[in-house]
Amino acid sequence: MMKATKVGTRGYFFSFEDPYFTTLYVINGENRIFICDTFLGPDPMKEVLQFLDKEGVKDKEIIVFNTHYDYDHIWGNQLFENSIILAHELCVKELKEIGEDDLKQFESHKKGDVKLVLPNTDFKEKLLFSDDGVEFYHTPGHTADSSSCYDSVDKVLIVGDNLESPFPYIRILNVPEYTNSLREYLTRDVKIIVSGHDELMNDDGLLRANLDYLENFAPNKIDRTNFTKKHRGIHYNNIKTVGELLMKEGKNAESLAYYKEAATILTETEQTPQIVELKKSIDDILEKLSK
Ligand SMILES: [Zn+2]
Repeated sequence: MMKATKVGTRGYFFSFEDPYFTTLYVINGENRIFICDTFLGPDPMKEVLQFLDKEGVKDKEIIVFNTHYDYDHIWGNQLFENSIILAHELCVKELKEIGEDDLKQFESHKKGDVKLVLPNTDFKEKLLFSDDGVEFYHTPGHTADSSSCYDSVDKVLIVGDNLESPFPYIRILNVPEYTNSLREYLTRDVKIIVSGHDELMNDDGLLRANLDYLENFAPNKIDRTNFTKKHRGIHYNNIKTVGELLMKEGKNAESLAYYKEAATILTETEQTPQIVELKKSIDDILEKLSK
C-alpha cells in the first residue's frame, strides 16, 4: 500500500509498508519534477506518477536522484531510463560491482519486473538547480556514496539512510566523516527531514540522537542497559561491520576490540541456535585476531 502526503508548498512524501517501511520524496519545482529515490521497482513508481497526475502536477522534465546505491532506493530507476538519473559517482561505481548480485539476492523484494538501470549523470561534491532552488550534495555517512537533497523553498532536507530510527546502519570505516555530514545538516535552515525508512520528521530529534550515537561509537562506549532487541541488533551490526572493515585493512589490534564487544552483545542476546552459531564464528575470529 502506498501512502502519499502533501508537504509544504510543492512536496510529496510517499511511503510503502512492504517488505519494510520505505519512503521517497517528490519536489514539484517551477521547471522540473525531482524524484528522490525510486523504491523497489517500476510498479510502485507508476503509482507515484499516476498520483502526481491526479494531483494536477504538470508534465515537466523529470530529474531522478538516488540517495545511495542500496537496491531499495534504485530499483524503480528503469521507469526513468530516458530522464536524467543523478547520483554520486561512487553510487555508479558500487552499482556496477554489486547491482546485478543484489537483484538476485533480494529477488523476493522486487516490485514488478525489475531491470537494473544505473544513474546516468554523476557528481562529486554538489549539483545545483538554482532556478528551482534544489541542491544535491555529497554527505558520506551510512555509505560512502550517500548524498542528500535540499529544497530551499520548503526547507526540506532529504537524507536517504544517513538517519534511521533508532540507530543508523554504519557501513564505512570513517565514522568521523559520517558525523561531519550530520553536523552539516544542523547548520541548514530545515523545517522537515525526510529519511529513507522513517515517517516525516518536523524536528531534529532523530538527527541529534543519531549524531550522539555516532560521536560515541567505539567499542564498549555506548551504554547498552536500556537497549531493546532492535537497538541491540543494529548496534551489533555496526560494531561487527567496523570490526570487519578494520580487519580487512590489517588493523588487527583495533579490530579485536570491536569483535570482543560483538561477542559480548551476543551473550546478552537470547540463545537461539542461530545466535549460538554466530557466537562460534565470532569466537573463531577472536582467536585468530589474538594470535
Ligand atoms: Zn534503505
